[in-house]
Amino acid sequence: MDLKKVLERASIRSSGAVIIGSNIMVDGHEPNYPIRIITHIHRDHIKDINKSVREASLIIGTPPTLEILRELGYIIPEHKSLPLGYEKFIKLDDGEFKLVPSKHVIGSAQVFFRDYILGIDIGYTSDFKDPGKGTPIMNVDVLIIESTYGKPEWSRPMKDVTEDLFIDLVKQLLAQGPVYIYGYHGKLQEAMHILRCGGVIAPFLAPYRVYRVSKITEKYGYEIGELYLETSEMANEILRTKWYVLFEHLSKIRQRVMSSSLKAHHIILTGWEFETACRRLNERIWRIALSDHGDFEDLMSYVSQSSPQLVIVDRARGGSAADVFANEITKNLRIRAIPMPISAPSIESFMR
Ligand SMILES: [Zn+2]
Repeated sequence: MDLKKVLERASIRSSGAVIIGSNIMVDGHEPNYPIRIITHIHRDHIKDINKSVREASLIIGTPPTLEILRELGYIIPEHKSLPLGYEKFIKLDDGEFKLVPSKHVIGSAQVFFRDYILGIDIGYTSDFKDPGKGTPIMNVDVLIIESTYGKPEWSRPMKDVTEDLFIDLVKQLLAQGPVYIYGYHGKLQEAMHILRCGGVIAPFLAPYRVYRVSKITEKYGYEIGELYLETSEMANEILRTKWYVLFEHLSKIRQRVMSSSLKAHHIILTGWEFETACRRLNERIWRIALSDHGDFEDLMSYVSQSSPQLVIVDRARGGSAADVFANEITKNLRIRAIPMPISAPSIESFMR
């Protein structure tokens, strides 16, 4: 495998754009690429979307991804957008690609590209968890992979019991008063789904954006159940009963904790908790290690099952964890791994 040639066809730029072949940029923008793929709704993957809308000819994402982005206020004109279901190949002049399912958030996807020029397969995982179960493994020659929890100490040994602990905690706390749950879009809806499947029947309340995104996820098969807009008349009645779960974007936690009744309990959903699945921070606030990313062990497991010839580790989003993760791959799996973006002289060192 000629590394120089491969890196011309598969790379990550400092803009955060993942470049695949001659036409495709994923999750970031670079000039002169006609196709922008958005793997999912998280902010670090929709960077420079307005630039892409202006300059590219096509914006591609799964139907829920594009629908939710519009709901969140992004303008993607119909004539430039292509909602693409999983496993449907699109042919280009230099290769063909498809979106592959992933377990991360509603609508999230991996990207698989068959490169006609080099005769190799290139895959970009984007963010994922549960490799081999919820997230299918792509068997490719060049694997571009995320590295959010790319350090060996970032493992969650309790990950298999977290959902059950979360359900039990919410049930327990609901007996004492209202429960507020905080997370990002996508994770909040997953939390609703987990609680409903776990038998939580209390009504759910949400502010406008969370409510709207939840309604879309429900359309795509999530179990959301009884959910009311916080400002609706029905919600007014429910607030009086003090028996409800309110879902709020993580950025609003401070105001919510300050303004809610002392009987209310607050649960933060975060992946940045490794020692325990459930931690009590004080009288009223809890933290649950519910992550939408795999931990270190999951990342390694994806690479070893995919067994590529080359791994490109996403440093644009993963930061220094990408360097550590690339090292671990080379050391433990004996597969060449390069964190990107890196400087030209550093790339030279990988060529040797
Ligand atoms: Zn994400």
